[in-house]
Amino acid sequence: MDYVGRFAPSPTGPLHYGSLVAAVASFLDARHAGGKWLLRIEDLDPPRESIDAPREIIRQLLALGLHWDLEVLCQSSRLKSYDDALESIQTFTFPCTCSRKAVPDIYPGTCRLRKHLAPGGPYAVRLQVPRHSVSINDRCLGLQTWDLEKEVGDFIIKRKDGLHAYQLAVVVDDIHYSVSHIVRGNDLLDSTPRQLALYEQLEVSPPEYLHIPVLVDESGNKLSKQAHAKPVDTSDALTTIRSALSDLGQNTHEYSLSIKELLEKAASSWNPATIPNVHDICAPNAYLSN
Ligand SMILES: [Zn+2]
Repeated sequence: MDYVGRFAPSPTGPLHYGSLVAAVASFLDARHAGGKWLLRIEDLDPPRESIDAPREIIRQLLALGLHWDLEVLCQSSRLKSYDDALESIQTFTFPCTCSRKAVPDIYPGTCRLRKHLAPGGPYAVRLQVPRHSVSINDRCLGLQTWDLEKEVGDFIIKRKDGLHAYQLAVVVDDIHYSVSHIVRGNDLLDSTPRQLALYEQLEVSPPEYLHIPVLVDESGNKLSKQAHAKPVDTSDALTTIRSALSDLGQNTHEYSLSIKELLEKAASSWNPATIPNVHDICAPNAYLSN
């Protein structure tokens, strides 16, 4: 199988250090395997996005030597593919008129029985999950299993406001671009069973997964834009990438003279087995703002 990996940020702001660490892991995993590494901008939720973010993310990645293959993919240009996919799995979907606030975390199936009734007013589209377990053998976390009905429930793949849901777009794009390996933060582990349900209903084998620990601040909160993590400083690329390598438990190759050389050495020595455990990885103060 040809290795294709990807980094897929949402353009809600510039890259912060937590996303950079995930980008570096995904980049090195692809380069170590001699594979392709794609960049995909997940711009499907305009109200949450910043107009300047895509350009800034691209600038940051280039300044840090993280060069991708092929052209940048923007999900906003792929809406027709998402609708086609929705149509191909319509036997597994149903319209849902429940108000989001009224629904518990695991959807109780309220609208499932009304499947063939035309709903009045706006509705979301939910995927009826298969009634069995799904599992992956994660390259970092080992065997992970979910009971789709009990732990996940029927989930939204097209929102009431007409926007395609994240889960659907991710899977359709990963299939379209033959993505074979997904390396991302374990804050996205919750999405994995939903995506596995979609792979199954689209009749495609899922990729390999490597979920890396997400960085947390000193109080144990995830480092995120919402938590005011600072944008990644690109003025000293060598130091920034060495810091990410260190957080990933990798050799920081102190004697590299250029970012290109550093990343080449890091790709060649890349070893996911030395990525620290969830609880050992903590953002240095330099990356948090007050
Ligand atoms: Zn409903």
